[in-house]
Amino acid sequence: MGYFDTKNTLLLLIGFINLIFGLVIYIKNRKSQTNFWFFLVVLSVTFWIFSMFFYRSIEESVVFCSRILYLSASFIPIIFLYFSFIFPEEKFHLKMWQKYLLLIPFITIAIISLLPDALIKGVNIIPDKENEIIFNNQLHLLYAFYISGYFVLAYINLFRKYLKTVENIIKTQIKYVLLGTLIATIIGVSSNLILPLLSIFTLNWLGQISIIFMIVFIAYAITKHHLMNIRIIATELFAGSILLILLVNFLTSRTAIEWLIRGFLFVTGTFFGYLLIRSVLKEVRQREEIEKLAGELERANVRLKELDKEKSDFVTITSHQLRSPLTAIKGYTSMMLEGSYGPISDKVKEILDRIFQSSNRLVYFISDLLNLSRIERGKMEYDFKKINFRELAQEVFEDFKTINIKENKGMEMSFEAEKVADYSVIADFEKIRQVVYNLMDNAMKYNKVGGFVKINLQLITNNQQQKSVLLKVQDNGIGMSKESLTRIFEKFIRGRNGSSVHTEGTGLGLYVAREIAKAHGGDIRAESEGEGKGSTFYLELPMDFIPPQNI
Ligand code: ADP
Repeated sequence: MGYFDTKNTLLLLIGFINLIFGLVIYIKNRKSQTNFWFFLVVLSVTFWIFSMFFYRSIEESVVFCSRILYLSASFIPIIFLYFSFIFPEEKFHLKMWQKYLLLIPFITIAIISLLPDALIKGVNIIPDKENEIIFNNQLHLLYAFYISGYFVLAYINLFRKYLKTVENIIKTQIKYVLLGTLIATIIGVSSNLILPLLSIFTLNWLGQISIIFMIVFIAYAITKHHLMNIRIIATELFAGSILLILLVNFLTSRTAIEWLIRGFLFVTGTFFGYLLIRSVLKEVRQREEIEKLAGELERANVRLKELDKEKSDFVTITSHQLRSPLTAIKGYTSMMLEGSYGPISDKVKEILDRIFQSSNRLVYFISDLLNLSRIERGKMEYDFKKINFRELAQEVFEDFKTINIKENKGMEMSFEAEKVADYSVIADFEKIRQVVYNLMDNAMKYNKVGGFVKINLQLITNNQQQKSVLLKVQDNGIGMSKESLTRIFEKFIRGRNGSSVHTEGTGLGLYVAREIAKAHGGDIRAESEGEGKGSTFYLELPMDFIPPQNI
């Protein structure tokens, strides 16, 4: 057989990988009972693997080594059974006496494995083949019974836990531990227990090699399901194996120079390995932190969207509810004003007039709110038709002209339009009317007594030869600062001076107006030289606009 035939080299390799793997898992979380017991499982398996190595290598004391081999194997089922009780809940559900009771068969088996002339009577050395162990047949059966019985118990335990667990990640964890160890045990029990029972020894090294399944499965579970951080483990395994090679190299030095050079290599290797692991650890922690934050952000985002929707629903419902009583108030007030319920004094008339104006303002506010929530939900509906924009603008202008006279505002008002041109555009009449109304209303509101409001309508052609109608609403009122100019089209935003001149505004009008203009392929923009220097608003509507449903 020889020390380093292929099988022995494989045994050593798997033994070391197994040991490092177990150590890393243990070090990752030293407080965890699961990790601790998993480590013990790994230790017992490593003991078994190395015992096989010695048994196959040291011919002089092959009988003693075979006894150690069987002793080492007897540790695995008992430790694995304890592990199956602990994993994944982190505590034993066994009573003290039950724990000790389970130890009795193990101790018995351990003793009969070690005692001379008990389980193993001797070993036939067969050159260039696997040695054959001569057993006491009854005890060998007992041994097999203990090993398989304990494994079956452990698997029943794990399988029950697998069925019972609802938490996904733990279920996956159990699944992979179960599968990995099951494959390894089936191979191990067949090659190292059942076949020797039939006096076939040729494959009795296979069980140890099959441990690789356990390692691969658990490692796969770790990478795929983030049970532990694979990058850290991989780096540690990498650094660990290099250090191991350097150490062996160092220990096998023969000359002083070799001792020196290899010693130096080992020390620097340790230092850089440490640095490497530390940097990977740091990076991984940072990434985990970022992932955690991203997760929280996403949850907050989802919640915000929900809240936004709830808010929109709330606004829609309340606005609809407010509309009908308001219509009644407006209707009755208007009838009272007209004298439908008999004559009224001037005092009462004045008050009723105020009630009427206030309800009117409320109606506009509610309609803005409704439009806002419709826009936000993408549910604004447009009734696109060919309309004469000039007529529309002039009509609104005339209304304000009347108000100007009625309310004694003393404003100078003018309307200019190129007469010959055709101002027809495809638009929703009511909505565009609302936009024009809003612009002219603002020009009157944010103005001073005796100021002017100039309306100008023209046709323009842009660089791409597209024709648009351009409505210019100019006033010489309170104007706006540069800062206000950039923000007045946002919802609920009001200019600083605007809100002090006219306290009742909502900051919604321009937002809704611009959204409507955009839905017509157009836009609204504003200009002002500064506070106190008047403002000019432009509404541009392209004449070749094709409404979405007609495309
Ligand atoms: P509201 O008039 O209800 O405040 P708007 O969205 O119509 O809401 O207007 C937003 C803000 O833009 C106003 O509060 C005001 O500060 C400013 N603004 C609008 N039009 C004018 C204007 N013609 N002159 C000066 N400021 C204006």
